[in-house]
Amino acid sequence: MTIYSPPGSDGAIVNYESRYDHWIGGEYVPPAKGQYFENPSPVTGQNFTEIARGTADDVEKALDAAHGAADSWGRTSVAERANILNKNFRYFTGAIRAQEGSLGELDDDTVAYHFHEPLGVVGQIIPWNFPLLMATWKLAPALAAGNAVVLKPAEQTPASIHYLMSLVGDLLPPGVLNIVNGFGVEAGKPLASSSRVAKVAFTGETTTGRLIMQYASENLIPVTLELGGKSPNIFFDDVRAADDDFYDKSLEGFSMFALNQGEVCTCPSRALIQQSHYADFLGAGVKRVENMKQGNPLDTDTMVGAQASNDQLEKILSYLDIGRQEGAKVLTGGARAEMPGDLAGGYYVQPTVFEGSNSMRIFQEEIFGPVVSVTPFADYADAIKIANDTLYGLGAGVWTRDMNQAYRAGRAIKAGRVWTNCYHLYPAHAAFGGYKQSGIGRENHRMMLDHYQQTKNLLVSYSPKAMGFF
Ligand code: ADP
Repeated sequence: MTIYSPPGSDGAIVNYESRYDHWIGGEYVPPAKGQYFENPSPVTGQNFTEIARGTADDVEKALDAAHGAADSWGRTSVAERANILNKNFRYFTGAIRAQEGSLGELDDDTVAYHFHEPLGVVGQIIPWNFPLLMATWKLAPALAAGNAVVLKPAEQTPASIHYLMSLVGDLLPPGVLNIVNGFGVEAGKPLASSSRVAKVAFTGETTTGRLIMQYASENLIPVTLELGGKSPNIFFDDVRAADDDFYDKSLEGFSMFALNQGEVCTCPSRALIQQSHYADFLGAGVKRVENMKQGNPLDTDTMVGAQASNDQLEKILSYLDIGRQEGAKVLTGGARAEMPGDLAGGYYVQPTVFEGSNSMRIFQEEIFGPVVSVTPFADYADAIKIANDTLYGLGAGVWTRDMNQAYRAGRAIKAGRVWTNCYHLYPAHAAFGGYKQSGIGRENHRMMLDHYQQTKNLLVSYSPKAMGFF
């Protein structure tokens, strides 16, 4: 067991500045309007740094820097770009070096060449649930493909991207990556509405995604959206066929709703358990949940830490009430977790298991907390019907020892990622993204380069003769 010292205290291995400005053109620039906002730690509820409060003027300044840098960055050789990015983004540096265009010999004199060209300057808007991971998922392919970026972190979690810049900010030419902090409407909207970005990439709530798409439609630019989810996690009865490692793994799979405190768009927030082993499996699952260690996130033994913000804490608590009012049964948890000492002001929720039916709001609406809603199913057809009875289609889990059943279920579930006998793995080499109202486009995987490139066709005639029209 190790308990790391909190940032800013004696012995801390990570420390934050007391204030962060915008990172524009390779340096820190104060906000045009001179305003800052406080950033509290969810662990204790205490402010630990203050952040520049960006507005349209700051976005313009960042776009000036990005436009100044985009052409020369876009023309660097892939080897040069890969060499810079390889310090952090190894998968996409490999992908960009291996990428090739194509040529088609249309006839003896005519050749169609296809080149991948960067889009230019792109805007990226990041959520608060995995502040660094969500930023790097977007930055790696955009920068590898040769784009310059203006990125807006979430107002709840703006600090960690600046910590990253303190480590790697000098690697990129000035202006290739710019960070404008601030709130959604004040800084995000001017970025997503700007006629000076060639694309907007967004991760966040489905309702915000709809707005982003509206802004982008004014300028007829493409968007990629990674939105909400209400992912089903299906446990067929054969998982119970033996009391072995696989059974243990499937119980861990049930508990995955609490990973990152449930603040994951793919949170397996609906557990569907086959009737014939329902009571046994659920009983063992609840026991597993009750053994989760909750507390200080800087303690390496801790499994469940604090929710990201007070707003999110209150939203989750309101869903705990909604569930009870709808008649769902609380099998464990169901309340705020009271923590001792310094943690008393932090935002902790007990991992919670509800039992109910799929039409309830707690089964249909994204809670984004350590809450799973459990319901039984009769057979394969019933499982697929319940799994697909949702507006969303981001993730799903299928647990069975029967690989034919696993294959059929995986193909029948309308979701972009079906984890099969695993959950919550996110390798760079596997495409991630939503069906239905969970989004447009994919993240990770080589195919994501397509979202940050456009195709240039050179149609070349090698014949000296007139074409014969005039
Ligand atoms: P949440 O409500 O869970 O914070 P959001 O979708 O509101 O999720 O936030 C995700 C990101 O989108 C954040 O960076 C936020 O500042 C930004 N955002 C929110 N509203 C808007 C908006 N109207 N225009 C552009 N960006 C926005």
